Amino acid sequence: MNHSKQIQKVIFAGAGPGDPELITLKTVRHLRNADMIITDRLVSEIILDSYANPGALILHAGKQRKREGSTPQHIINELLVEYALQGKKVLRLKGGDVSIFSNLLDELQALNKYNIPYEIIPGITAACGAAAYAGIPLTARNHAQAVRFLTLHKNEIIRPSYWKELAQTEDTLVFYMSGATTSDLVKQLLDHSINPGTSIAVVEQATTPCQKVFCSRIDQYEQEFGNRNYTSPTLIIIGKVASLHQEFKWLPQNESGRDLYFKPVTKNKEEEVRA
Ligand code: SAH
Repeated sequence: MNHSKQIQKVIFAGAGPGDPELITLKTVRHLRNADMIITDRLVSEIILDSYANPGALILHAGKQRKREGSTPQHIINELLVEYALQGKKVLRLKGGDVSIFSNLLDELQALNKYNIPYEIIPGITAACGAAAYAGIPLTARNHAQAVRFLTLHKNEIIRPSYWKELAQTEDTLVFYMSGATTSDLVKQLLDHSINPGTSIAVVEQATTPCQKVFCSRIDQYEQEFGNRNYTSPTLIIIGKVASLHQEFKWLPQNESGRDLYFKPVTKNKEEEVRA
């Protein structure tokens, strides 16, 4: 390994939630410049095809729990460090925003250990993308005073006292990574006495041509959608504001028959070598 080259800043950038036009000009500039791009499963292929430097090495470091093709975090950290020390311009591209439910901290710590400089560029997080494309103003006046980003990815994180707090709050609740646990989530909130008339909107593949929104009262959710297996990625919006979808939706529901916008994770040669 040649470490004598000038070390470049590693760029961490959010690619937005799906629609390839929801990316910043700054991130596009860095995509055109990068020697090496480590990307996520939730980054639109169109973004890479349209903007990535054609000479760049692109590694797909998708993280999808329990599915084949997930890249362990320590390998992503090692790749960032290794290529940066080789003097390569490394771009770490993540779906949505880089700091929301991502392992940004882990990756920053890995770089700090080697004194590798970096820059962080924000992106549009899935909650903002889904809210906009589903016509749900997240903190609409007289509906909610705040919005909370949460996850029910690991059940044990939420204590009974916190469930109670979530069930009683007027804040809008947005759950990431919870498509597979939506029924549990609804049950917990009902068990902790959430107002049964509260609305829930499940937004599948938000901001893409495959977007679908499933909306109901929370007490009718199980009956209407309890049996559905949502297509990943899925975001759940709970609160008074979710009912605004019916009146303010503007994007036609996907009835095209096309069902999958994001490709499932596949392994790279680089990962196989290191596995
Ligand atoms: N950093 C990302 C979130 C990564 S966690 C961001 O800021 O958006 C991955 C979770 O984000 C998914 O399980 C899903 O809950 C949500 N998500 C990401 N893109 C989405 C999309 N296009 N539609 C719906 N949910 C999405």
